[in-house]
Amino acid sequence: MMRTHYCGSLTEAQLDQTVTLCGWVHRRRDHGGVIFLDMRDREGLVQVVIDPDTPEAFATADRARSEYVLKIKGYVRKRYAGTENANMVSGQIEVLAKEIETLAVSETPPFPLNDEFSNVSEENRLKYRFLDMRRPEMQERMVFRSKVTSLIRNYMDRNGFLDVETPILTRATPEGARDYLVPSRTQPGSFFALPQSPQLFKQLLMVAGFDRYYQIAKCFRDEDLRADRQPEFTQIDVETSFMSDEDIMQMMEGLTVELFDTMLNVKFDKFPRMTYADAMRDYASDKPDLRIPLKLVDVADLMQEVEFKVFAGPAKDPKGRIAALRVPGAGELSRGQIDEYTKFVGIYGAKGLAYIKVNDLSQGVAGLQSPIVKFIEPIVLQLLERVGAENGDIVFFGADKAKVVNDAMGALRVKIGHDLKLATCEWAPMWVVDFPMFEETDDGKWTSVHHPFTLPKGSVEDMKTNPGQALSVAYDMVLNGTEIGGGSLRIYTLDMQKAVFEALGISDEEAEDKFSFLLDALKYGAPPHGGLAFGLDRLVMLMTGANSIREVIAFPKTKTAECPLTQAPAPVDANQLRDLGIRLREKPKAEAGQA
Ligand code: ASP
Repeated sequence: MMRTHYCGSLTEAQLDQTVTLCGWVHRRRDHGGVIFLDMRDREGLVQVVIDPDTPEAFATADRARSEYVLKIKGYVRKRYAGTENANMVSGQIEVLAKEIETLAVSETPPFPLNDEFSNVSEENRLKYRFLDMRRPEMQERMVFRSKVTSLIRNYMDRNGFLDVETPILTRATPEGARDYLVPSRTQPGSFFALPQSPQLFKQLLMVAGFDRYYQIAKCFRDEDLRADRQPEFTQIDVETSFMSDEDIMQMMEGLTVELFDTMLNVKFDKFPRMTYADAMRDYASDKPDLRIPLKLVDVADLMQEVEFKVFAGPAKDPKGRIAALRVPGAGELSRGQIDEYTKFVGIYGAKGLAYIKVNDLSQGVAGLQSPIVKFIEPIVLQLLERVGAENGDIVFFGADKAKVVNDAMGALRVKIGHDLKLATCEWAPMWVVDFPMFEETDDGKWTSVHHPFTLPKGSVEDMKTNPGQALSVAYDMVLNGTEIGGGSLRIYTLDMQKAVFEALGISDEEAEDKFSFLLDALKYGAPPHGGLAFGLDRLVMLMTGANSIREVIAFPKTKTAECPLTQAPAPVDANQLRDLGIRLREKPKAEAGQA
């Protein structure tokens, strides 16, 4: 080994020792006759001092520039009083260099990697990701992630789970996104799909008798990207046989508790459970942020007869919803702030944001301040009683199709809660259970809320007669308003699987064509089974406080699903296409220009 220690790991424990370090020049300072180098490696920084008494080392240090790779042999000594740095692990000591060897030189990096790093575009960071990742912040995140996966493997091993790999070149697995396709050379015109998840394979592993499976698995989904999405991402994928939904939730809760305790020293109590119906009613979200104590209250029944159309319309519409959000003590919000919130709910399709400021309830209607009071006077006091309003509160209203109200008021609840610093805790994990099996698409068809292999509550008969009412044995783990994992018990009998396909409008032929292997497996002793998957990237993002999953993935794609580093995706040459039996309909733009 070239080195004896990592730069960032040196402390007073190595005082008076001679050490050899290998690392990058983070910063170089010339203090008239003495050179200081901050040397960096994956463990952090250490200050190296070079004085002219060692002329050769001094000359090498003098030539060194940012990001040169140096090997330094030196003597660990205490820093002079007053020059210690409490922010560095190695801040009490410094290394007096005796010998320096330049292992590699570096051009001036395209952006600074030390403290002056800021305002560097993400595009540029990703293009030079190998430099971006040298920054201590990125190094820490990648080390953190590696520790998390190691703990996960350890927990799963301890609990008897087998790590089994499943194919990447496969057939479509429906998880609600578009597939990434890979053309086959040996069967021109046929395509593999990259897995949206290992769902069907893990179910087949249960049929095969493995009983407890996990995998840290890459999944691929071609969908529109948002801050917390990537076209390829990593799941902690789990499946078990002979365990109840309760058993599975406890097993995975145990993992989460252990991860937070070990990595962050955060202790969780038992996670609260909430049904999907309650979550939607109280928080207008299937992933409520329980750090914020505010709740919505339904008031449509009071609005049936009011003259105000904005309320009367949704009140009478079976697909409508009117929800009130009482914000205690926020009666002081200014007109400008209310306008901001009105704009905010507009993003979610809300046409406005009605409100009532409660100045003095003892004065009745006269004690209220609101543009809408005059329209709902007959019921307004009853309304305020329903929401529990007190003097000094403001009450907001969302009235529209339920979907719009849920999206808008659910988001407003969280935004106001954070703006007004109402959060009651730092971490709020929970389970949401009893999801509906299906939701209605815009064209009036049913689609799976989870996936078509989710076990419904109730009988095959219920599924056939009343699919729209069916609930599923599905559960999502939610942390601070983000879904970090989800799963379900699975269908394990042929007749139920067929009934669900039928409810989804999947014909026998289509089912046979796409899933014959699953249907076959269900004929040969499929055990009751179920599982779930955690989004590893999201989990690590939340745990490290990063603001995007791209910050915790070594080589992520941009929001337009490209890789600025490798320039993928890229055109391929004509021979490759010919081998695959593919002809492009239009020439890619770049080529067309040259023709
Ligand atoms: N396959 C599901 C998903 O990727 C998770 C599960 O049901 O286990 O979302």
